Amino acid sequence: MSDEATSDSAKGEAALVLFSGGQDSTTCLAYALKRFHRVETIGFDYGQRHAVELDRRQGLRAGLSALSPLWRQRLGADHVIAIPALGEISQTALTRETEIAFGETGLPNTFVPGRNILFLTFAAALAYRRGVSHLVGGMCETDYSGYPDCRDATIRATRTALSLGMDKEFEIHTPLMWIDKADTWRLAEKLGGEALVRLIVEETHTCYLGERGLRFEWGYGCGECPACKLRAEGWRKYRAEKTA
Ligand code: ZN
Repeated sequence: MSDEATSDSAKGEAALVLFSGGQDSTTCLAYALKRFHRVETIGFDYGQRHAVELDRRQGLRAGLSALSPLWRQRLGADHVIAIPALGEISQTALTRETEIAFGETGLPNTFVPGRNILFLTFAAALAYRRGVSHLVGGMCETDYSGYPDCRDATIRATRTALSLGMDKEFEIHTPLMWIDKADTWRLAEKLGGEALVRLIVEETHTCYLGERGLRFEWGYGCGECPACKLRAEGWRKYRAEKTA
């Protein structure tokens, strides 16, 4: 629901980015740093089975600051919110030592029901207190693995509910909504050149298994889980078109 028109009108304003330390949210953070004069980040600790992704966040923030003096100036506070209740109510592969598989619904059992709705609600509550009206998230309908809370319609409805419920007009920017993983790599290159692509390869974490022992050309991971496969496929497509 975000486009160049809204980003122009957003100049001079502040944004809060849902920042997990993965490829998608790091690309979103760069997107926000390009557009907003102050950018804060929020991460959620809900008892993920592996905290590897969360551990990458500070290094990535430092890496992004080092890429551009303007980005260093714009990057503001980081917030980590603990939501242990989310882990308690979800029995999924991300939070319990169960095998990643597909359940009867056809959704990966990494699915935490309504996770993005909860994240956006916490983010909006914090944004309200910080005087921020723009939220930025990596939700994507193209590679969404069937997660219904990544859909554009869900995000639009959530924005309406949050704006009404807090009596404050929020914008939710989802720059990855209609693009695939290859386009996400391309967007990173457009935003921060090869240096940003390299930072994402080296420092972001996407693997469901928390694996960082193996290094592939697209970064670290197990190479086998659905998240690694998606990332690897996107990388191959991105590189193939670059060299074609
Ligand atoms: Zn993996």
